[in-house]
Amino acid sequence: MKTCHICKKEFSEDSSGSVFVEAGEWLSEELWLDAGELCQQCLENRAKLAMMYLHEYNT
Ligand SMILES: [Zn+2]
Repeated sequence: MKTCHICKKEFSEDSSGSVFVEAGEWLSEELWLDAGELCQQCLENRAKLAMMYLHEYNT
């Protein structure tokens, strides 16, 4: 088990996530450089926020 960097909850690394989790993992690797440090819930939340932000950025 690992401890999430954001919410401090313990989580196990399995890759059965939604499209948002996949997006969050990509953002972690490419943008925030903290891949593997966050639980799926936080990856998902951050991906959703990033998508909203990027969407606003594009308009
Ligand atoms: Zn978390």
